[in-house]
Amino acid sequence: MRVAIIGAGLGGLLSASILSEKGYAVDVYEKLGFYGGRFTSIKYRGFEISTGALHMIPHGRRGPLGKMLKRIGTDVEIVDSKPEGVALQNGEMIEIRSSSFPRKTKLKYFKWLIGYKIFGIDRTMDEYAREMDDFTLKFFEKFLGWSLSIYPDQIKFSDIYEIYKRVLKYGGPGIPIGGCKKVVTELAEIIKSNDGNIYLKKPVEKLIYENKEIRSLKVDGEEKHYDIFISNIGHSLTRELLGFSRQDVVESRGIKYSIALKEPFIGHTGICFPFDVEKISGMNEVTNADPSLAENGHLLMAHQPVRHPAQIKDEIKAGIAELKEVLKGHEYEIIAIQSYHNDWPVNRVMSGKDTGYQTEFRNLFVVGDGAKGKDIEVDGVALGVANLMREEFG
Ligand code: FAD
Repeated sequence: MRVAIIGAGLGGLLSASILSEKGYAVDVYEKLGFYGGRFTSIKYRGFEISTGALHMIPHGRRGPLGKMLKRIGTDVEIVDSKPEGVALQNGEMIEIRSSSFPRKTKLKYFKWLIGYKIFGIDRTMDEYAREMDDFTLKFFEKFLGWSLSIYPDQIKFSDIYEIYKRVLKYGGPGIPIGGCKKVVTELAEIIKSNDGNIYLKKPVEKLIYENKEIRSLKVDGEEKHYDIFISNIGHSLTRELLGFSRQDVVESRGIKYSIALKEPFIGHTGICFPFDVEKISGMNEVTNADPSLAENGHLLMAHQPVRHPAQIKDEIKAGIAELKEVLKGHEYEIIAIQSYHNDWPVNRVMSGKDTGYQTEFRNLFVVGDGAKGKDIEVDGVALGVANLMREEFG
């Protein structure tokens, strides 16, 4: 059976690795000159500047992606973060533990849970936020901005409940040694070792169908026939390849700052949530887990969610000012500022609004962060791929 994969992002490469191992003849077509999509890095001035992700895996070694990478047979070591997170409050870093949250707020969570489970009450989180104490509210806003690039009014209680369950099950984040690039390089090696192909600078121009079945795709003006088609570019862009209008979905948007430091700022592998500022939601310093991600010094990354693409320029100005405040007294240089929206967003579909891998075509499926399973970020990408593999490929 011949499988065509459109896009060599993480979801495409995971699918291609698994199917090529199963004996399918797999061809991956990638528009850009490199594979990995938003989950790889490009070396700049000795620093591994990521194309998207902050070199972090939400549930570390034990989560869906960590486990899938192991099953596939990749040689990826993931260092689980310790501590998982700290709050930067009044210039001091305080470890965040369960005891950091007042009992009163924990009891409220159970009240909301009962409301959801028994009475089906499922509101957006801004409504519950009003009842939180100051510490919990700050943490909650920062966590949403950092992990999903969204705000409390953009997510419902039911989705938070799912995330919370998964954090309890798998734990917090981890950093792959070698960063995102190591993960995708390992996957590409597996695909190639199984005689699969990854074609770079080969954008798929069109998907050609008859009735409810995809017949072929067009690359370089040439029609190529396959049995199965897996798209890694989200439902909306896939519809465009079919000649339909785009889907009405909202992506999550953000800005990432890559900062070079001689001395570490955070000093450990966990996330730092800067409570003292408004826009920057979180920071991590991956070189504490893997010094090779910077040839000289440390790589600190800061993330800032953004509501509207039109606000990006002003948001960057505000973000730079906040970094100045947070990093006061430290010698640092911002070496890259990247903004993410439209077709290169933080998430192709805002968390909780994914519609699954199926399409109206019998032999066309969607993977990646436009069709995640019930988890966040790249663990959600892995779950989406796992669902597809289990339900359609046995
Ligand atoms: P994508 O990365 O979307 O790749 C799709 C590929 O398809 C691309 O390479 C694209 O060039 C290609 N393509 C597009 N059109 C065509 C076409 N017509 N023909 C052929 N190829 C095509 N997640 C985490 O888990 N941890 C993090 O720390 C984290 N931080 C993030 C920080 C930022 C700033 C951003 C932007 C994202 C972050 N994410 C993080 C999210 C994570 O990067 C993405 O969820 C993940 O990389 C998406 O992978 P994907 O499978 O959807 O593929």
